Parts: sequence; C-alpha cells; structure tokens
Amino acid sequence: MPDLPSDEIAFVDLASQRARLEPALSDAIQNVLCHARFIMGPEVEQLEEELAAWSGAAAAVSCASGTDALLLALMALDLGAGEAVVVPSFTFAATAEVVALLGAVPVFADCAPATFNIDGSTVDDALATARGLGLRARAVVAVDLFGHPAGYTELEAVADAASARLIADAAQSFGGSRDGRQVGSLAPVTTTSFFPAKPLGCYGDGGAVLCTDPEIARRIASIRVHGQGEHKYDHVRVGTNARMDTLQAAVLLHKLRIFGDELVVRRALASRYDYHLRGRVETPTVDEGVVSTWAQYTVLIDERDRVASELAGAGVPTAVYYPVPLHMQPAYRAYPSAPRMNVAEALAGRVLSLPIHPYLTEAQQDHVIEALLATLRV
Ligand SMILES: *Cc1c(COP(=O)(O)O)cnc(C)c1O
Repeated sequence: MPDLPSDEIAFVDLASQRARLEPALSDAIQNVLCHARFIMGPEVEQLEEELAAWSGAAAAVSCASGTDALLLALMALDLGAGEAVVVPSFTFAATAEVVALLGAVPVFADCAPATFNIDGSTVDDALATARGLGLRARAVVAVDLFGHPAGYTELEAVADAASARLIADAAQSFGGSRDGRQVGSLAPVTTTSFFPAKPLGCYGDGGAVLCTDPEIARRIASIRVHGQGEHKYDHVRVGTNARMDTLQAAVLLHKLRIFGDELVVRRALASRYDYHLRGRVETPTVDEGVVSTWAQYTVLIDERDRVASELAGAGVPTAVYYPVPLHMQPAYRAYPSAPRMNVAEALAGRVLSLPIHPYLTEAQQDHVIEALLATLRV
C-alpha cells in the first residue's frame, strides 16, 4: 500500500469550504440573526431569483428539502390514489417515497447500463407494467444520478406519448447541463436538494423546485405555505409547510458565489480519475453534450466490498450509492416494477464512489488512485 498522505482524506470537505467563505459567511448569518425574519426573509427571495438565473428556469421556489421539492412537484399535479408514477429503482429512496406518501403507486423502472439513468426504453417497460395493472401513469420522474443529467428530450417524448408529466429529480445535478441547457430548464419541473453533501449544500436541509412555467411555480409556492391564496388565512388548496429557513438561504447565497468555480474543480478531478483509472476499472460514461456536476465519481468494480475495505485501510473513504435498489427494499418490494430490473440489480453489487470534492488536492487524489490500483493487483 502507498504511504498515507499527511492530511486525512475526507469524502466531503465542508470545513475547507467554510474557511474559504469566512468571514462573509458568518456575517451573513449574523445579519439574519439581527433582522430576525427567520421565515421567508429577504434572503429567501434573493436566493430564488439567483437560482432561476443560474438554471435558466422561469421561476424557482425554495423549500425545506429535496424530498419536499419532489412532494410539492407531485402535489401540484393533484396526484392521487390509484394513479401511478414511474420512478427509477436505482436512486435514493425519496424519489419513490413521495409517490407512496401521496397514496399513489410508484412503478419502478430499470436504468441504462452506461449512465445509470432511466431512458426511453426502461420507461416504456414501466409504463407497460402500469397499464397492465390498470393504473393511470400521471408522471415520470427521472433522476440525474451522480450529477449526470438524463436524456430529457427522449424522456419527454415518451412521457408525452403516455400523457404523463415529466419531472426531473436533480438533487445531485443542479449546476450541470445538457446540450447547452442548464439543469432547471431541461424538464418542465425540476427538483433539487441542498442537503449539505450535495454539490450545492446548505447547513441543514433545503431544496428547490425550478419551473419553466411561472404559473406552475405559483401553484407550488402556494402548496409550500398551506395552500395559501390571496392572503395568509385564505386556503385555496390542501398544502403543507415546506418553507426554506432564511438562515439556509443566506448560507446558499454565499455558496453560490463560489459554486461555478467548485464545479470546474470537480470536472478537473473527474478527468484525472478518468485518465488514471480508465481500462483498470469501469469508469463513468458521460453522454455527448453533457456537463456533469460530478456529485459522485462512481466506478464499477468486482469484489467491491473487499476493495472498499482495503481502501478504508489505506485512509481512503468511499461510499456505496446504492447497495440495494428500491424495488428490493422492504418498504417498496410490494410495489410493481418493470419485468426486467437486471441493470439496477447488477449495479448495486459493483458501484463504488470515490472521494471527489473541490478541496481534494492532487496529492490526495493521487493517493486514492494508487491505493485503488494497488487493490487490483492482489
Ligand atoms: C438527496 C436526494 C434526494 C432528497 O433530498 P433531501 O434534501 O435529502 O430530502 C432526492 N433524490 C435524490 C436523487 C437525492 O440524491
């Protein structure tokens, strides 16, 4: 095993980022404490404007988490019992959870082997499953796994043909783009998360819904605050409380200033991994025209668990996203899935995500690469 670098390698390094943002970040937090408009304070509106500008969406509605963003997007469709929503199986639980929470049926789709995202053919299979069960498919939720935007042009055609709406779960891909269009303008409704470990994270939970139609954004903003109508005690629909705290908006406004620069570093790290690892392990595939956020750099590897534990021994933290596909989870296995789910099932046993964050030094990355290659020589 190569020698450990003197400084510890973090999987996500929020401390270095914070040091870079100080003292302005603490001043911004202090400012919120002073003005005391903790709910829907001025920073929230400013953040929404900046998120819309960043993404090319017509409007952004901030909210309390990525999960709430998905919930709001589905509530805006009046999704109800007996209706279906196609979701990928190889994703974080939140994508399917919100569907079940609303009394509707998540129908699991497999994913494409190259990008791990759903594509037209996997969605078609899941739509056929829904039809076979007499379920009306109201929506298709695509996930931009690991930061790689899905093929929305193709997905929109497939969803349209089934009279279903297309929603992008961009919890990992805010800041990415496809064919020159930013995430947030690739699908009619895009949800994202500002969980601390996401590429753009706050200091707690946070999220947003980005809409290309300002009318849908207004509807979602109303659902976010108890279905509010003309005034505070006018409730025109059933809503919820899913507001983002002003403190989180203040943090995000500062993180946005360096976000573009951080994404450049993530891309450079991904290219270095590609260069040194290609041919030795299966490295990530990036579709033509895609700019990924590199939320994760995930390789496919045999004997993944042995490799991960040897890497841990060499001071290299790794993660497995995701060890069990959703259609095999206790909470979801009773829900329908497409007839063949073999890609998701095979990926779960072979994926390994390596450290990739904007504060990873080249020396640290070299150590990760050497340590990984060393495990392959055993
Ligand atoms: C993180 C994540 C979510 C949930 O976001 P939270 O802010 O943690 O609620 C949803 N979908 C995907 C794909 C995610 O990675």
